[in-house]
Amino acid sequence: MLAYHCPHCGKCWSYPVKKCIFCKSDTREVSETKYTVIGFTKVCVPSSGNERVPYFVYLIEGRNGTKTLLKSFHEYHLGHAIDLAGIGPQAVPAVVVPGNDPALR
Ligand SMILES: [Zn+2]
Repeated sequence: MLAYHCPHCGKCWSYPVKKCIFCKSDTREVSETKYTVIGFTKVCVPSSGNERVPYFVYLIEGRNGTKTLLKSFHEYHLGHAIDLAGIGPQAVPAVVVPGNDPALR
């Protein structure tokens, strides 16, 4: 999954943000596919666009500390390692939270 990182502010987005919305600096693309499940919720109530239930929404953390959300029909436990290579379309757009990697600060 690509993230867009502002080297000046340390903000990250999972959307293709080419210029930082805070400082107008050019962002750079950061590619990450290996994540770990750090939280999840099981959704049992269908909604528009999410008619098939139950499904899970996972909070996952990349090796560089960035976090994002992933919708899946598979049940994973906390700490489960997920490689998004090949299952990218299941990932739902979300704000990516920068981690503690000095390279992303
Ligand atoms: Zn910035």
